[in-house]
Amino acid sequence: MTSLSPEEIRTKVEALEKEIRLQRSILEVLQEPFFILNRKGDFIKGTPKGMKLLGYPPEEIQQMAFMDVIPLEDLSRIQEGFEEMEQGKDVRFRIHIISRFIGQTPVEFFGTLRQNAFFITLRDLRERIEVEEELERTKRVFTEKIRERDLYARELQVIRDLYKGKLEEIERMKEEAVRLSYTDDLTGIYNHRFFIEQLTLEVERQRRYSTPLSLLMIDIDYFKHYNDTNGHLAGDQVLKDIAILIQRGVRQSDIVARYGGEEFSAILINTGRETALEIAERVRRMVADARFANENAQPNKDLTVSLGVATFSSPISNLTDLIREADHALYRAKKNGRNRIEG
Ligand code: GH3
Ligand code: MG
Ligand code: MG
Repeated sequence: MTSLSPEEIRTKVEALEKEIRLQRSILEVLQEPFFILNRKGDFIKGTPKGMKLLGYPPEEIQQMAFMDVIPLEDLSRIQEGFEEMEQGKDVRFRIHIISRFIGQTPVEFFGTLRQNAFFITLRDLRERIEVEEELERTKRVFTEKIRERDLYARELQVIRDLYKGKLEEIERMKEEAVRLSYTDDLTGIYNHRFFIEQLTLEVERQRRYSTPLSLLMIDIDYFKHYNDTNGHLAGDQVLKDIAILIQRGVRQSDIVARYGGEEFSAILINTGRETALEIAERVRRMVADARFANENAQPNKDLTVSLGVATFSSPISNLTDLIREADHALYRAKKNGRNRIEG
């Protein structure tokens, strides 16, 4: 038995260590779909994982070239990869392989040229791609949901706009209803209800600020006669005409209303007795001067009005008293011959 020199022992130990390292890396490699190809690209060896991925038994795979498991559309990419490896580069890219049972399968290709052979690892990407596809699907669903939501928002806006239109219409109808509730149907001027409401407000204001306030009560003379002679419709026309005349006779700020029947009233705001009498006289004259159909058949050959004037002054303490005083004045005007004013 020859004894080994220290030099020989070291060489043997190194060789042993190298062997262990190799075994270890082979073990690791065995866990992957790993292949060794010769320089022509033929399969030399494959790990069990590799065989499983491709679906061929070892004896069969050894008859095949790597290109046999590559679909047509990926051939040029693989070609490029081999050229790069020939130049000493490690390559990594995605391609498809044709697995015997599964068909086209996406893989990540890792390749390197070592000791006159190509070392190829193919990592199965199916799971990863499934995840990516699932992500894609989720994204599509999400986008669809967003689109639906936007659509919904737009529809909602249309409904809102419609609703807004309706609200405005309802508002207009309400205003119209309010207007109508304060208007006399025949003449279009304010009705008795509005007259009372306004007079109440004005009386309150007069009390608080002591501004003068006057009231006119206006009644058509011998109107029954006019109706009897000319018919109710002609009478209606006279009522409309006189409503207009009274509005022209008073001022813009005064409130003219149909008190009832053939009787009108006018609230003369911020108006003392003298001015009220002037306005009353002006109204009387305007009606007397106006021409009405067949008015000369009237008892006094003219269609006229009588007016009672009342002004809010200390002995008058409330709305009822003011109306009563104007009524009494009107009664006096009738008694004293009609077509005149009293106050
Ligand atoms: P006086 O001079 O005393 O006021 O006599 P008059 O005939 O005007 O008074 P009276 O109260 O006797 O008659 C009022 C008439 O007014 C009776 C009624 O038919 C008529 N009248 C009341 N409202 C209307 C109406 O809306 N249309 C018409 N055409 N006539 C009406
Ligand atoms: Mg009357
Ligand atoms: Mg009358």
